Amino acid sequence: MPYPDPFRPLEGDASGAALLAHIEHLLTTTCPGEDVGCFFIEPIQADGGLIVPPPTFLKRLAEICERYGILTVCDEVKVGLARTGRLHCFEHEDFMPDIVVLGKGLGGGLPISAVIGPAEIMDHTTAFSMQTLHGNPVCATAALAVLSAIEDNGLAARAQSVGDVLMAEIASATAHLPQVGDIRGRGLAIGVELIAADSNAVDADLARKTVFRAWQLDAVFYYVGMHSNVLELTPPLILSEAEAKRGAAILAQAVEDALAGRVSDAEVVRFAGW
Ligand SMILES: *Cc1c(COP(=O)(O)O)cnc(C)c1O
Repeated sequence: MPYPDPFRPLEGDASGAALLAHIEHLLTTTCPGEDVGCFFIEPIQADGGLIVPPPTFLKRLAEICERYGILTVCDEVKVGLARTGRLHCFEHEDFMPDIVVLGKGLGGGLPISAVIGPAEIMDHTTAFSMQTLHGNPVCATAALAVLSAIEDNGLAARAQSVGDVLMAEIASATAHLPQVGDIRGRGLAIGVELIAADSNAVDADLARKTVFRAWQLDAVFYYVGMHSNVLELTPPLILSEAEAKRGAAILAQAVEDALAGRVSDAEVVRFAGW
């Protein structure tokens, strides 16, 4: 399914209603709702472009799913665990998924992921949720320590306040650059969409040159998106306000340098098309 993108909305409808109508259409035609077990969704589409869905979209989607008996699975692997200012990103919406998936930061570097759901699903048959590597005591202990550290250090609130600073600093540092088309995110999950100066055509070349230049200037960003033109900022949750301000300044400088031709095509040829 397409993701609800308020900057590039389906049929020009930034509310997401046209997309929900499209989904309902598919569930009554080519993809019959009765045959669908579950609907996976990211509460912010991360690698697809750091896209924040329009308000209440997830709740409205869940209502459609419920009508067809489709379970909702919320993929919090990348943006969950306090990054967006709440422990779970879905908490920003009046939306309660049936199943939640966690990973990445959960182990603080050790490999562990988690699927959380109601007992009637997880235990629907004996040992259904048992796999070879499950329950590794070292990784599970690390994950419990990470959860405690998030709570004890108030990292969700910190991500919100430092993220607000970072987003505001990026907005003011790049206000003079029409190529910075959209700045969006929640907490410390921020996307910066790069476009042409005179239209909102995507500019993937500018994105990869900006990322390369930022790396030369000591800041690591990634670029993501269906068209490889969105800078992704998902820094550690312990980022300080001073570091956020420095990062925003480097980002603006890197866009300016890339626009001024200070990064050559040859330098970035190996980094094209992520
Ligand atoms: C990285 C990622 C995954 C995959 O996690 P693995 O542990 O590599 O399987 C799933 N969903 C999202 C949103 C991710 O960013």
